[in-house]
Amino acid sequence: MTDNIVLQCPECKKPVHWTEKFPHRPFCSARCKHLDFGDWANEENRIPGRTLAQDEQALDGLGDQDKEVDNY
Ligand SMILES: [Zn+2]
Repeated sequence: MTDNIVLQCPECKKPVHWTEKFPHRPFCSARCKHLDFGDWANEENRIPGRTLAQDEQALDGLGDQDKEVDNY
């Protein structure tokens, strides 16, 4: 059995033993787990921005088409 696995808490980098003593693994504590969840929320907030960037690219493409129409 691999019961000597030790990870680093993704939040505070403290050693986390992969045992029942750390029910919040891979986080060392519920606090770090919630902190990471906050990061996830931020990532989700970034997705609309990414979509906007994609929309901008689409608009750029439309702009090029307009230019061609103007030249034509
Ligand atoms: Zn931690």
